[in-house]
Amino acid sequence: MSLGMYHQPVLKNRRTLLERAEKFISDIYFTDCNLRGRLHGESCPVEKLESFLSPKRIPFTEAIKQNFAPHKAGESFGPTWSTCWFRVALNVPSSWSSKEVHLLWESDGEALVWRDGQPVQGLTKEGEKTSYVISESLQEDEPHSLLLYIEVACNGLFGAGQGSMIAAPDPKRMFSVQKAELIVFHRNVQELLTDFEMMVDIVKELGDEDQRSFQALYTVNEMVNLCDPSDPGTFPRARSLATAFFNQRNGQSQHTAHAIGHCHIDSAWLWPYEETIRKCGRSWATVVRLMEKNPTFVFTCSQAQQFQWVKSWYPGLFSEIQQFVKKGQFIPVGGTWVEMDGNLPSGESMVRQFLEGQRFFNQEFGIYCKEFWLPDTFGYSAQLPQIMQGSGISNFLTQKLSWNLVNTFPHNTFFWEGLDGSKVLTHFPPGNSYEMKGKVEDLTKTVKNNKDKGRANHSAVLFGFGDGGGGPTQLMLDRLRRVQDTDGLPRVRMSTPDALFSALRSESELLCTWSGELFLELHNGTYTTEAQIKRGNRECESLLHDVEVASSLAACRDESFAYPAEKLRELWRLLLLNQFHDVIPGSCIELVVEDALRYYEDIRNSGSRLLKNALSALGSGGSSPAVFNSLPWERHEVIRVHREGDSVLALVQVPSVGLALVRPAEPLTPVSVTPQADGTVLMENGILRSVVNKDGTLASLCLVTSGREALLDGHKGNQFVLFDDVPLYWDAWDVMDYHLQTRKPVVEVVQAAHVLSSDPLRATVRFSLRVSEKTTITQDIVLDAMCPYLKFNTQVVWEESHKFLKVEFPVRVHSPSATYEIQFGHLQRPTHRNTSWDWARFEVWGHKWADLSEHNFGVALLNDCKYGHSVFKNTMTLSLLRAPKAPDAHADMGSHQFTYAIMPHAGSFQESSVIQCAYNMNCPLRPLQCSPQTGPWRTFSVSSAAVVLETIKQAEEQSRTLVLRLYESHGSTVTATICTSLPVKEAWHCDLLERRDQSRPAQLTTQGIRLQFEPFQIVSLLLVLR
Ligand SMILES: [Zn+2]
Repeated sequence: MSLGMYHQPVLKNRRTLLERAEKFISDIYFTDCNLRGRLHGESCPVEKLESFLSPKRIPFTEAIKQNFAPHKAGESFGPTWSTCWFRVALNVPSSWSSKEVHLLWESDGEALVWRDGQPVQGLTKEGEKTSYVISESLQEDEPHSLLLYIEVACNGLFGAGQGSMIAAPDPKRMFSVQKAELIVFHRNVQELLTDFEMMVDIVKELGDEDQRSFQALYTVNEMVNLCDPSDPGTFPRARSLATAFFNQRNGQSQHTAHAIGHCHIDSAWLWPYEETIRKCGRSWATVVRLMEKNPTFVFTCSQAQQFQWVKSWYPGLFSEIQQFVKKGQFIPVGGTWVEMDGNLPSGESMVRQFLEGQRFFNQEFGIYCKEFWLPDTFGYSAQLPQIMQGSGISNFLTQKLSWNLVNTFPHNTFFWEGLDGSKVLTHFPPGNSYEMKGKVEDLTKTVKNNKDKGRANHSAVLFGFGDGGGGPTQLMLDRLRRVQDTDGLPRVRMSTPDALFSALRSESELLCTWSGELFLELHNGTYTTEAQIKRGNRECESLLHDVEVASSLAACRDESFAYPAEKLRELWRLLLLNQFHDVIPGSCIELVVEDALRYYEDIRNSGSRLLKNALSALGSGGSSPAVFNSLPWERHEVIRVHREGDSVLALVQVPSVGLALVRPAEPLTPVSVTPQADGTVLMENGILRSVVNKDGTLASLCLVTSGREALLDGHKGNQFVLFDDVPLYWDAWDVMDYHLQTRKPVVEVVQAAHVLSSDPLRATVRFSLRVSEKTTITQDIVLDAMCPYLKFNTQVVWEESHKFLKVEFPVRVHSPSATYEIQFGHLQRPTHRNTSWDWARFEVWGHKWADLSEHNFGVALLNDCKYGHSVFKNTMTLSLLRAPKAPDAHADMGSHQFTYAIMPHAGSFQESSVIQCAYNMNCPLRPLQCSPQTGPWRTFSVSSAAVVLETIKQAEEQSRTLVLRLYESHGSTVTATICTSLPVKEAWHCDLLERRDQSRPAQLTTQGIRLQFEPFQIVSLLLVLR
């Protein structure tokens, strides 16, 4: 190539030539004589700077009514989480005509500029945004005087961690505005600086084995020779050298990088929910400004909740966004309400994430998202592919598995096959980031790291500051524009997720398939951290389930009963919000935990009221005690009922999805509890026989009919164990493999096991243990008549630092794999540590139960609010409490209450109703009052035990129509008949968004609705009632 005349001589000293070019654009060295030093021209102070400090986050209209006082740059304000509003009067010197004029604003708090009552741009030093453009070329007739408001939040992009990013926030941090002045901005210097930066980076990134790197080296060196920083007349020649280099094209086979603007905003993390609303305002206002100047700029944005926030807080900005959505530049993605945790939400919760998300995107923008977008969560359930497909989504983008600590995930582009065989096209951007900066390094990494070379020739490059918001900058766009087709670098195309996935799908013949869950080998402490949040989630999932079932039935029975659709939507959205991927995992600051617990309290209060309304409609104003069963099978249980001011135990039999009066009934076999001479206590109910040691451990647990002992010889069940729990960095997130070496049984008995109560219906044995000076455990071991499991109602006063409490059951079962409940199904994980893939799963997640079975016998461990499990060889372990100190310094301190249960069983867990028992433990029978003539009645029953009727709700905006959601829970192919007492006119299959499939009416027979199921299949029906 001919790049013009070179200055001579050029020695073969790569290092000095490269560093010379670097120093020429350095913002630290030689700025007195280098190019960087020429970026800004004249400056002038702002005319007037005034401020007003607000402890609360207040709207603009309220802020501007306050009394503003004079403020000097450099003065401090704060503390953390307050807001300083600035009124800034500007007067641009008339001598600056035809110059580019910026307001230079450097502050350590995140700022938002308001102009004429509208948010116009975010300013954050950390996010490389310190300039607000007043004019690109100042004209005579433009206003030279201007009044701006600048809202400065007293927090940085990443909150206000004391000492380190994830440390608990420093509540006393003070902030300041270091610079507030008008400057003349030299755009020609900026453009040349960007050329230089890209050339220098090409030299460095391609390295000394690549001839292209040397071509860049000599070109950039000559650019330095040609350019005199003090003489802008020399710039064009330097620029044309760079342009000629950038325009040397690639061959046809080059990889394509699909550059997509992005701004990952955690809905709450190191800052509270309320601050996220403002992060959205700041980041998206900036994006809209960039779109005005760059018509090809495309930006993707997930989380319907954040759009909803912006809609209600910044309606002006929201309507600008709607315009850019129409133009195809601002692209809503993901289809969910928030970017939720991928492990812990229940199956129905995950469906609701998509239902609420997709419905919102459709209502506001007239679109349904085609891709699920979850770059930053801590593992992905094996049921997600089916849930995505059911929500109109067949593409998936994430990257978090690049964080695996042990094994490198083998693909970047592949088909992900879920539990039921559903497949989605999946892409992990090979750059392993969702916040690239459009730099050369991002592009070369994308090609080098791609593990599907030769199979997939397209990748995503997501650029823009993220996590704490911020988003793309003009500089990132300028970088990418220069190298759209530059020999040696991937081809760069400003693109959309749709274009990316279409390109990948059209060349997908060689792609591999990964079957089953995407397990993240890191952050495994998040199944346990912040136990109250986990408990709130589980309880509220079960409460909203019951409210929907009871309200659906009440609306069917009583025309005057109004189904509380709006209130339910509001409560669901709160629950879904708390499932955000730093809230339900417990990886957030204390302020967020407080908000989350308050939301759960709101759901509990309002949900209980709704349930009461529905149940009293069902009871039709009677006064005899009755119970309601929301689950699709008959239940026979001991419950506590209130009768004439007394609380008494009763054995009740309640039909499936129905109710029955409480009638005195005798158990076939009464429960007995007998203290033994050796200090142990024997508990029996005709199904189980257990011996409780003085220290609360189980010496024996026997299935009475077969005489089979469930516990391993010479071992004790219900053994509490304490571990040291000091991770490498991510405190709330991580439990490391080495913690297993620090196991210490809890042995100090405060109060030995003794009979607390003895009734033919229920026996309770209580004991308490001391874990440490301040931490104690008090437990009631409860055996109910006719109940196949032994319950452990547990109270812990927990005051620890970096400890992990678990409970162990070493069982007499030998099996290479254990089974764990997940969303709408279950899966197996190994109980051995053969390979690195096996031992990396030393701590795993599961929902209501885990089971270890051999042929014809097994033991299940049930729980009412825990998610962390492990089974190694014969020992089943449930994770109970952790004590991390960052980012919440008080995580999990205080008292806790939870229940787990052990259930030995003959046959398989499917045959012995483990799944049903776990549901029963999580969905208590609900008391109500009926007239004494009420016969037991049921509304639904299912002919196959394999099929669970999970959800009964009113269809969205369709009157007299119910949605039923069922799933196959055993892993079998079955036909099931749904029998109902409701007057069904028509039944239709529908998708998870409740869109009727006109080609698939459900088969109505005299027995009911006949349905076919394949293993773990989810089926949704619309029942149109007469
Ligand atoms: Zn995140």
